Amino acid sequence: MRYVLGMTLQELSAAVTESGLPTFRARQIYDGALKNVAISDMTTLSKDLRARLAEEYVANSVRVVEQVVSRIDGTKKLLFGLSDGNVVEGVLMHYKYGYTLCLSTQVGCRMNCAFCASGIGGLIRNLTAEEMVGEVVAASATVSDSTKPRNVTNLVLMGTGEPLDNYDNVIRFLRLITDKDGLDFSPRNISLSTCGLVPYIDKLAEEDMAINLTISLHNPFTEERKQIMPVTNSYSVEEVVEASRRYFDKTGRRVYFEYCMIKGENDTLRHATKIATLLKGFPTHVNLIRLNYVEEKGLKGTDSVDIDSFLKALNERGVSATLRRSMGSDIDGACGQLRRKYTGGAV
Ligand code: SAH
Repeated sequence: MRYVLGMTLQELSAAVTESGLPTFRARQIYDGALKNVAISDMTTLSKDLRARLAEEYVANSVRVVEQVVSRIDGTKKLLFGLSDGNVVEGVLMHYKYGYTLCLSTQVGCRMNCAFCASGIGGLIRNLTAEEMVGEVVAASATVSDSTKPRNVTNLVLMGTGEPLDNYDNVIRFLRLITDKDGLDFSPRNISLSTCGLVPYIDKLAEEDMAINLTISLHNPFTEERKQIMPVTNSYSVEEVVEASRRYFDKTGRRVYFEYCMIKGENDTLRHATKIATLLKGFPTHVNLIRLNYVEEKGLKGTDSVDIDSFLKALNERGVSATLRRSMGSDIDGACGQLRRKYTGGAV
């Protein structure tokens, strides 16, 4: 099978010509696929042609198998079904300017962070570039106000998986999604979040594709961070921060740090002071996040009043920081939770 969303228009044109069809068919097929139309439903093509193409091509191998909408803010939690029966999650958030999709890059994750539900069953497999484009297209089609793929304007690679642990497919995905003949996303509207795989941060900086970079920090002390994020055994906090400074220098894109507040673990004045030292002179921003409670993990979130004091302590020490608005808290917005419910916790 050939997967339309895994190809550029040019590649599809070559494939279509190879199949003995005129090149203009490629644009028709591509436009249909970008709107999440199955080959068999592409009315711009004759019935015979659809039947013939459907034997060889799949428009989008990803489909939405479940949707849960938040009553609080309209945030939509999506479960994407993949062709091999695996499922991954996405979250569609509605803002004034349009929709932001948080998408998955792997089935499961092998980073095993102490607070995150995604890593509980380990890594099952990487997603292909086609599947990641498929998530965007399938998510977009759930928005009723139009069939334009571009009602999703922003992408965050913050769903299940560690994007830099699936580097080649993620880069291919980014190239497809920013292609002028494709969905034509602006790199400025795409953010990649990582737990800090240093060599790949440097590699990403060299790609000539200035997307936003977000680092999941969660503790400024290397020894303490090792306890909640095993990746720290390979790269110290200082090394991760140095790599993000290099990313900023090279791309000019502002780097963000995510910091989820875990009660009694990373929320003291000592931590705030260390964060200020660590990020001194670095034009960055720290997003504090309320911990989403994950039953299997048992960690508790910091109380609101302590989050406020922590935020104040950071600001007083010259750190630009805000508390991120939690969206969809009534619908298991937290990473990996819907999928685990769906699979009965098997993976
Ligand atoms: N692997 C990447 C991207 C996926 S995780 C990364 O580590 O950045 C996306 C974000 O959600 C990360 O900042 C992660 O630390 C955070 N996260 C994971 N579990 C969480 C939880 N239970 N509560 C709040 N944030 C969580």
